[in-house]
Amino acid sequence: MIDHRKLGRELELFDSDPLAGAGLPFWLPAGAAARHAVEEYLRDLERRNGYQHVVSPPLGRPELFRLSRHLEHFAEDMFPALSSAGDDQLMLRPSLCPHHALVYRARGRSHRELPLRIAEIGQMFRAERSGVLGGLSRVRVIALNDGHTFCAPDQVVDEVGRELRLIRQAHQALGVRVSGVRLSLRDGSGRFIDDDAMWARAEEVLRCALKDAGVGYEDAPGEAAFYGPKIDIQVRDDAGREQTLSTVQVDYDKPQRFDLSYAAADGSRQVPVMIHRSLAGSMERLFAHLIEVHAGAFPAWYSPVQLAVLPVAPDHDAAAREMLSASAGLRAELWAEGSLGARIRQAALRRIPYVGIIGDREASAGQVALRLRDGRELPAQGVPQALDRIGRVIDLQSSDLLG
Ligand SMILES: [Zn+2]
Repeated sequence: MIDHRKLGRELELFDSDPLAGAGLPFWLPAGAAARHAVEEYLRDLERRNGYQHVVSPPLGRPELFRLSRHLEHFAEDMFPALSSAGDDQLMLRPSLCPHHALVYRARGRSHRELPLRIAEIGQMFRAERSGVLGGLSRVRVIALNDGHTFCAPDQVVDEVGRELRLIRQAHQALGVRVSGVRLSLRDGSGRFIDDDAMWARAEEVLRCALKDAGVGYEDAPGEAAFYGPKIDIQVRDDAGREQTLSTVQVDYDKPQRFDLSYAAADGSRQVPVMIHRSLAGSMERLFAHLIEVHAGAFPAWYSPVQLAVLPVAPDHDAAAREMLSASAGLRAELWAEGSLGARIRQAALRRIPYVGIIGDREASAGQVALRLRDGRELPAQGVPQALDRIGRVIDLQSSDLLG
């Protein structure tokens, strides 16, 4: 069994310190490199699929969260208000939705702009009790790969279908292993907003999109967001616990609460529908999953170090340095200290996908012998060819080290 907390520390991906507080991990250089590669990939995927990115602050006035109903339905998961700076009270936000509703509202909107898709990898907060916290899977500060689509009512099914396809694409590139899909619905408890027609409509839309996409799922009563039902894409950790990673939610409530509107083709004012979605969940929960699923051996495109160049002896240092400077687009390191065997073992321990070995024969011919993390060894080849090959695998986000 692989525990991401133990392996994450061994690979120096992240750490935490009681002095800083529970549930507040920090990302070490290797973890930050991997996370940034994943963030860049997600932003690029979103950009190519019609999303515009925004940046919004991680806190706001209580009035904002009263309007979004978070204070009414979600207060026990929120930190209390910060003591006032001057006369302003501020709260750490429990989600990005309120700010994104304000982005929509920043100017008048026309039906021609819809669907309007905005995205952000932004921070939000959960007042978790310290007993339940651990590693990256339960934390108090969350960096969510979030997005909101504002669209006309007749566009909702198509948009949800689009999101399901994008989620599948992202999961494939990242190597996410889905354990199940559920349709999270409300139950009889008072935690959910009270509007039968709204719940029925939203549920129907989600069932329709799931059917169109050919996705099998189970109903999960009581697991909805307080404002609407949602599709949850689940992953299981190595201890068998299931968690939600990606999600798509339909919300008919917030657009009204925030007084959002657009000018329809006939000139009337209409209220858009808000779709909340996350392709890959929070960076914390995503990496807890990826560390376990890949046993720390990430696909090359988001490996913290992609290539280690190993000169066999000091005579080969110059050729190794040349290879390092030619590999500028990669996360590459030159390792010259210690025996060759010890360096090869170290590369395996750190799950480095490509090791380039340069001895007499390679140095004199401008070549390198590549050893792959999975044990394959390639015959010596020209340094530019080797780097091209690695670059192609990385550009394709391939999970196979030879593309
Ligand atoms: Zn949202």
